[in-house]
Amino acid sequence: MTENKDAAMSQNFIHDFIDADIGENGQFAGMTVHTRFPPEPNGYLHIGHAKAIYVDFGTAQKYGGQCNLRMDDTNPTKEDVEYVDAIQEDIKWLGYDWEDRFYYASDYFEQMYGYAVELIQKGLAYVCELSPEEMAANRGDINTPATSPYRDRPIQESLDLFARMRAGEFPDGAMTLRAKIDLASGNFNMRDPALYRIKHQSHHRTGDQWCIYPMYDFAHPIEDAIEGITHSLCTLEFEAHRPLYDWVIANISAPAKPRQIEFARLGIDHTVMSKRKLRALVEQGYVSGWDDPRMPTICGLRRRGYTPASIRAFSEQVGVAKADSTVEYAFLEHCLRADLDDTAPRGMAVLHPVKLTITNYPEDRQETFTIENHPKHPEMGSHTVTFSRNLYIEAEDFLEEKAPKYKRLFPDGPECRLKGAYLIRCTGCVKDAEGNVTEVLATYDPESSGGDPADGRKVKGATLHWVDAATAVDAQVRLYENLFDDPNPDAAGKDFLSALNPNSLTVLNGCKLEASLAEATAPASYQFMRLGYFCVDSGDSRPGAPVFNRSVSLKDGYKR
Ligand code: ATP
Ligand code: MG
Repeated sequence: MTENKDAAMSQNFIHDFIDADIGENGQFAGMTVHTRFPPEPNGYLHIGHAKAIYVDFGTAQKYGGQCNLRMDDTNPTKEDVEYVDAIQEDIKWLGYDWEDRFYYASDYFEQMYGYAVELIQKGLAYVCELSPEEMAANRGDINTPATSPYRDRPIQESLDLFARMRAGEFPDGAMTLRAKIDLASGNFNMRDPALYRIKHQSHHRTGDQWCIYPMYDFAHPIEDAIEGITHSLCTLEFEAHRPLYDWVIANISAPAKPRQIEFARLGIDHTVMSKRKLRALVEQGYVSGWDDPRMPTICGLRRRGYTPASIRAFSEQVGVAKADSTVEYAFLEHCLRADLDDTAPRGMAVLHPVKLTITNYPEDRQETFTIENHPKHPEMGSHTVTFSRNLYIEAEDFLEEKAPKYKRLFPDGPECRLKGAYLIRCTGCVKDAEGNVTEVLATYDPESSGGDPADGRKVKGATLHWVDAATAVDAQVRLYENLFDDPNPDAAGKDFLSALNPNSLTVLNGCKLEASLAEATAPASYQFMRLGYFCVDSGDSRPGAPVFNRSVSLKDGYKR
């Protein structure tokens, strides 16, 4: 059912439940495991959703079952076709396929209404005229039951009022349909929860057909039952709602009896995950869009250079637990680095260029050296770079004076290797009127040619990356840090916008790339020697005027 080639998801407590359920005496004996992923189309998917997608689709896959994609669009506010399209694109990109099972919860509105009528007829639901404020005031507390003067209203009267609610006779908030369960329940979700509320608002799919909308806790089990879901996997905040889920399924003539199982929500440090906060970042211009490479959205991660395999590996390794936890952002980076280390071709770029002149190299000469695309994967082939008298190197690879432990270029310093090319020795530099270094001078050893380190010579100095000035391509390179300085900007009550890291984006212009990268188009990722993994920016890069994003640095900041 999916296009990815990962091993099956490792066993977790959800799978233990499923094993029992589909076993000989289980409630789903002999049935195919059927899950669903139910995003609310009110924003773009983020890395937390990616984990839920992994759990929902990965579990179905593990059992040779099926996973539906369902837009949970029962709430008429803020829903948008843009989000629906983006959600599908992101899930496909992650490598999952719902085949022909794409649904909208709003398609079930008529059935939901029918089940609500069924509950009223059974004496299990009633129309309550308490306003939302009154209902809250009459909620009771642990020692005091909730109250409603409308609880014992005759069935016929509720049926009539509910039909008139639907017909639009009453204003918003005038009444609700409530389940008749237990006003004294220790679980407040069971204290006669509202099943329907009046909302005179058009819906992005049903238009003005409805002015009453079902509550999530009533709608969700019905959606699952209609689709024949066996296991409705969701996050922990729904645990206390499970008795209501089961109550709905038990008391309507449901076509199936799905089972809800909750797992821990994924949190990541130094970022926010709620759609409301992510939307605020976009709408208030703190980021360039939902796909800004600093965003924890799937489209942001994609633009940053994350691969589907790295996100699936992350989801697998984070695991599925029963207790919420926060994972280090560095662990997400660790998973990306592991993937790119194996798959990204190598190339050279100079981010802070200074000119290097090889004074004993003939002015009219140009050579070509071969660089392997991947040191461990000969099948990935090689490419060539040109070499001539004028090169670019990283400004920090030169010092005017010797410094402790500095093994790079300084006058009369050690021999250094230019990656894949010659050994050189620094002889001095040229400065402008303000004293800034404008050119580093060196001589090369013609005997040392032949690529790194084919001449077998060990030198004291470092191996440096470089780009031939004669063929170099100018590029813009964007470097990223955490979007938030604060490790937990998502904490309740925190002014998350004040925790933003002002240095989360650094734009470098005039970076120098080896010529082979001039026409690179997204999606494409490279390891730039000594600098990290970089990808072509899918939004702003143009052939001949490349823009690269640093996806992740080489140094692993994750400590196990
Ligand atoms: P948000 O609070 O960001 O708006 P949500 O839970 O309202 O998130 P939905 O679109 O309703 O977003 O979520 C779809 C599915 O993804 C749900 O089953 C939900 O439990 C799951 N999900 C959402 N956020 C996370 C997360 N951080 N970790 C794991 N699963 C998540
Ligand atoms: Mg939600």
